[in-house]
Amino acid sequence: MKIDFHQNFIDGAWIDPVDGGTIPIYEPATGEPFGLIAASGAADVDLAVNAARRAFDDGAWGRTTATERGRLLTRFADLILQNAAELSAIEAKDTGKPQSVADADIAALARYFEFYGGAADKLHGEVIPYLSGYHVNVVREPHGVTGHILPWNYPAQMFGRTLAPSLAVGNATVLKPAEDACASSLRLAELASEAGFPEGAINVVAGTGHVAGAALASHRGVDFMSFTGSPEVGQIIQKLCADHYITCTLELGGKSPHLVFADADLDAAVPVIVKAITQNSGQTCSAGSRVLVERTILDKFAALLAAAFAKVRVGAPEMDLDCGPIITRKQQQRVQGFIDRAREDGVAVISEGEIAEGAAAGGFYVKPVVFGPVPRSHAIALDEVFGPVLTVLPFEDEADALRLANATEYGLVAAIWTRDGGRQLRLAKRIRSGQLFINCYGAGAGIELPFGGAGKSGHGREKGFAALHDFSKTKTLVFHHG
Ligand code: NAD
Repeated sequence: MKIDFHQNFIDGAWIDPVDGGTIPIYEPATGEPFGLIAASGAADVDLAVNAARRAFDDGAWGRTTATERGRLLTRFADLILQNAAELSAIEAKDTGKPQSVADADIAALARYFEFYGGAADKLHGEVIPYLSGYHVNVVREPHGVTGHILPWNYPAQMFGRTLAPSLAVGNATVLKPAEDACASSLRLAELASEAGFPEGAINVVAGTGHVAGAALASHRGVDFMSFTGSPEVGQIIQKLCADHYITCTLELGGKSPHLVFADADLDAAVPVIVKAITQNSGQTCSAGSRVLVERTILDKFAALLAAAFAKVRVGAPEMDLDCGPIITRKQQQRVQGFIDRAREDGVAVISEGEIAEGAAAGGFYVKPVVFGPVPRSHAIALDEVFGPVLTVLPFEDEADALRLANATEYGLVAAIWTRDGGRQLRLAKRIRSGQLFINCYGAGAGIELPFGGAGKSGHGREKGFAALHDFSKTKTLVFHHG
């Protein structure tokens, strides 16, 4: 497959980047280049934002009713499903993820548009009792033009997660996908146009973060920003937004813990814990990357985990194993650097998976590994690795488990494995996270479920009805009728 998306999709049409620059893209499974994308600059972002502004301020998009928007989103969901095989093939090639994972991502993408299509005309205002002789309505309005900067780990899903609620509310959108995986976003922009979205409602501009991304976040025509990626860039985005007095949602990753108590059903927990770190090769913001285990069951738990983890296999998308490659050579080296440092520091290895025979030598593969017991202050116990690297840390009692759970700067997702109902509730109230799973884990699961973090994991909420609130603002109307 040759993907040549060297143009941007702006105002309902493919157009060349103003200065004609391109960036080669690489297949993670082989390390080979396989296409080109646009290296957009500030002038391209300007065209896209202006197109979105026109669509919102004066165009057909700004006049759509909520019901019409709902129908459009639903029609787009259907079109995504009709083109699922093509989209999934693009996604697997571009990101290296196993084919069945790419298939699931495309199904989730369609579900985002289906869910928010159904929700579009169910976002209501309110009437507030006020002084005698007055009537007060609070109505919800779109921000106007929303900017979206995407990461490379779930490009297609993220397209749905961030655009569907924004469009449902009535914003016009400009998306800057990650330069390391943006093919599906470009194809989707074209498909959205086929589904009937009017010109300028969805604009996609490819390019690097420090040029195209920074131009988008600092553009005066953008009213709200949605960013998913690293904490370092999240801070840059927030500062750029502050310069022109707009707000943003930041989804910046995590170091999410499982808390495994002695009374837990370990046979149920272990396979879920393995999947929570190997899914998408650990390149998941809500990956369960720390397992905190009650010391009295450490040996028993480690033996079960070792046996399950040793079966983890890594390979190319078409091999459809547990893990694919890491997205780029640079990220592979970053993940491997964490692993090498832990080994050099003498941190014990509990178990390792295998890179399958037949995986190309030039692919960006990493051997999945579980370290434990890991010293509490070691980098792999505290920092987001963003790879298939699991750390096991023992705790003494409930208070110690809570301390350890909240001991990183992140706060995105957590899981508690215990049969003790009182403990479930006590911990649920005190663990710092935006989602908490009890005797289960769903890395960022559920389009219906509000999702987002605290601290270094970011702020704002995506998914569910919460996203409709973040992508809109209230206006209070006060009538004096005497
Ligand atoms: P990144 O934050 O650099 O990139 C994410 C997006 O931000 C991309 O679209 C990129 O082009 C854009 N960007 C980069 N610099 C920018 C700037 N100055 N202004 C505006 N936009 C900019 O992430 P990365 O370098 O691709 O990955 C590094 C680390 O980030 C990973 O190891 C992981 O820890 C984290 N990460 C987290 C998520 C997540 O889902 N939370 C996703 C991807 C990466």
